[in-house]
Amino acid sequence: MRDGLRAAADVAAAHLDGVAARPVWQSMPEQVRAALLDAPLPETGRAVGELLDEAERRVLAYPMGNGHPAFFGWVNAAPHPAAVAAGLLASASNPSSAGGDHADVPLERAVVRWLAQLVGFPHEIGAGLLTSGASMATIVAIGAARHRALERAGWDVREKGLAGAPELTAYATAEAHSCVRKAIELLGIGSRALRTVPERVEKVGDAGDGPVSAGMDVEALRELIAQDRAAGRVPFLVVASAGTVNTGAIDPLDQIADVCGSPGGEGGVWLHIDGAYGAFGAVDAQMSARYAGMARADSLALDPHKWLQVPIGVGALLVADRELLRSAFSLVPPYLRDESGDALGWLSEYGIEQTRQFRALPVWASIAARGRAGVAADVAACNETARALARIVEETPDLELAAPVELSIVAFRYAPAGVAPEQVDEVNAALPAAIQERGAAFVTGSVYQGRPVLRACVLNPATREEHARLLVAEAQAAGAELLVGATAH
Ligand SMILES: *Cc1c(COP(=O)(O)O)cnc(C)c1O
Repeated sequence: MRDGLRAAADVAAAHLDGVAARPVWQSMPEQVRAALLDAPLPETGRAVGELLDEAERRVLAYPMGNGHPAFFGWVNAAPHPAAVAAGLLASASNPSSAGGDHADVPLERAVVRWLAQLVGFPHEIGAGLLTSGASMATIVAIGAARHRALERAGWDVREKGLAGAPELTAYATAEAHSCVRKAIELLGIGSRALRTVPERVEKVGDAGDGPVSAGMDVEALRELIAQDRAAGRVPFLVVASAGTVNTGAIDPLDQIADVCGSPGGEGGVWLHIDGAYGAFGAVDAQMSARYAGMARADSLALDPHKWLQVPIGVGALLVADRELLRSAFSLVPPYLRDESGDALGWLSEYGIEQTRQFRALPVWASIAARGRAGVAADVAACNETARALARIVEETPDLELAAPVELSIVAFRYAPAGVAPEQVDEVNAALPAAIQERGAAFVTGSVYQGRPVLRACVLNPATREEHARLLVAEAQAAGAELLVGATAH
């Protein structure tokens, strides 16, 4: 048993050590993919050492690429080594963090408080929980918002469901993450009830010619809510972004909070802030003022498995009202009755999962290994690299920024002079895959303001200006190649 675990630690260490020396990503050879896909169910067992060999050869050799300093894709971080190590201990300890009198439970309450303290969200003990990710945190938050709004309207949604209930409406911009709509659909509210709030568009850029969103248009939000109220509907939820996934933009949180009213205030609309990616940006002293108003939200989703570099599988929800969360979800049958006398009850009373993974230990390790100062330095390093990337993009003739850079996401496009906009769009839509294929840098794409863009996200403090230069060089080279192809037909 010890030999197996030591060998696993060696394989993991060798993997992390060697990341930067390998290509950031490469497509899997067909036979390797087939061997995994078609692996027969084994009749008999094998030694752990053999399994680790196979895992190293067939699995670890073909990673997604996050972990490499030239990885700029999606919102996926490099794992912090302290959190990787702690993950092994969490598995070995293997409690169900549903609740009870064991160490993982107070540890989860403490790290949830740490998260709140890191980003500056007011916190009473127990007012939040760790989840599988921000999508799950969003479902829990919107479930609680739905419960509160209908309870105030005299309707017990837990007992009666939604058929015949007052008609709920929710508000977010087109830049809100898809998990918001998914949650609205899943909770039976229906995406028709999710109003798209326009964004305030400003002209920026050197030539003043780029239409760029300045976040949610607060006056438009106010109007939409008033219209729905006048029509007898129940506006119950506003979702604001503290760092959009496309451009890292932060909505005007303080003004949105004014529209929603204070947490728990009668007649108030629940303000949920999606800080899955961006909430941790608040630990960078240079950025914290941009988050004014975040502390006034009813709930905040944030993802330790992104900027906090906890291995994937950990999101978090913070709420202003602990008891409200509990009343939306608590269901304690006799076989789960808590005899420990803990007044907060079980963590499973505050969300959807019953048997819960021990997520707190890797979060604890990721923060404790660095302290607040270390986390802040790492976040600031990512923001600095993103600003460097933005500067290099602006200095590079064939490239242009698609949006201003607030945090560590840079949206840009390949746009050489004299090329028709349709052709520019065609090239940019094909560019992420072309850059990925080259194997030196990894970036993904999106559509912003109706046009394809490259979007680079920096979550790894080891990603530095040299990697930003590499990405720009790769974008230029791949763009030029694609352009030749595009003009040839
Ligand atoms: C990643 C992300 C989500 C979804 O979170 P998961 O952890 O992937 O479930 C929601 N919003 C934003 C802004 C994100 O970056």
